[in-house]
Amino acid sequence: MLSLSQKSESITPSSTLAITAKITAMQAEGIDVIKFAAGEPDFDTPDYIKEAAITAINEGFTKYTSASGIPELKEAIVEKFKRDNGLIYKPSQVIVSCGAKHTIYNILQSICNPGDEVIFAAPYWVSYIEMVKLADATPIVIETTASQNFSMTSEQIESVVSDKTKAIIISSPSNPTGTVYHPDTLKQIAEIAVKGQFYVISDEIYESLLYDGLTHQGIASFGKDIQDITFVVNGVSKAYSMTGWRIGYTAGPEKAIQGMSRIQSHSTSNPTSISQKAALAALSGSQEAVETMRQAFEERRNAIAQRFDELEGVTYIKPQGAFYIFPDFSAHYGRTINGRTINGSMDMAAYLLEDAKVGVIPGNGFGADKHLRLSFAISLEEINRGLDRIKKALER
Ligand SMILES: *Cc1c(COP(=O)(O)O)cnc(C)c1O
Repeated sequence: MLSLSQKSESITPSSTLAITAKITAMQAEGIDVIKFAAGEPDFDTPDYIKEAAITAINEGFTKYTSASGIPELKEAIVEKFKRDNGLIYKPSQVIVSCGAKHTIYNILQSICNPGDEVIFAAPYWVSYIEMVKLADATPIVIETTASQNFSMTSEQIESVVSDKTKAIIISSPSNPTGTVYHPDTLKQIAEIAVKGQFYVISDEIYESLLYDGLTHQGIASFGKDIQDITFVVNGVSKAYSMTGWRIGYTAGPEKAIQGMSRIQSHSTSNPTSISQKAALAALSGSQEAVETMRQAFEERRNAIAQRFDELEGVTYIKPQGAFYIFPDFSAHYGRTINGRTINGSMDMAAYLLEDAKVGVIPGNGFGADKHLRLSFAISLEEINRGLDRIKKALER
């Protein structure tokens, strides 16, 4: 039997990959494409972090480690949660995985059974839906709109909670919308979860990238009852520009962390020993570089928002965090421009790429076909040139 598993056949390939491949192919042909497609910071990893990795290599720290992470890194993570979030954990409540994506994957694998339901908002990060399916659970998607700041309301959540509910995933600051949940909403969600006794997976990977003077507040901060059922997910990828190093982590209910540990011990084993030392340096060293990058992102956020204000028929919510803007282009749908009829986000992204040489990600992969996602993890100069091109393309 040379057939493939139903699982592998049922997974939708990442929608961002097709367009990214096309952008790369155009760039290889020498075409000047301005790329708003990146899902990662454009900065180099700070030197003090690289130094720690080089030292690890030179000292021979290149072997297997404990599958769930080295004790020093777990201690540093415990310290980070205390310092930044006011949350107290024991090292046994912490696991280090190969990126926060792997962390969320392992959480779902360790808590879900067939028939369980996992709630999250649309627009969603593309991997949530597939990871829930890979865990044999059912995604329950709550549609959110710009008028509700792309945040699930307590009424929406209450209307889908049942005895099948296993978990809710919250992404704040959000990829792709850049919105941040209001603390009052988080408090209401916490009350629903505590009452219904289901897990909360709080994806806080963009915690350090907040604008307009906002400070981060995670759902686990609303008392012991909610902290006891919440997985606080974080990692070094976005805050320290370390996407390639593959270190993510979570703190949560000890029994579930042990389950994750068992799964990890038979799949990936430990995250890379060298990267763990780098992550240790990142979390325990000076946090100055993080703030420098945050300021650069805020300046870019301001610039891109200002340029979107000039675009006819495009509306957006000013991102309060992360490095994406998620404007609604649907007023231009139905138009025929340069002989091309634009019927949705895929068509709009293809038009902008082929005619305007601007690479953006269509919103349909995020469950929001009216929108396009633009990353502003690029230079101010590129932002301005790219928006000049988009403006011209829409005015045709
Ligand atoms: C980038 C990202 C992650 C995970 O990143 P890793 O590189 O796997 O640590 C998790 N959630 C969201 C919403 C992201 O955008």
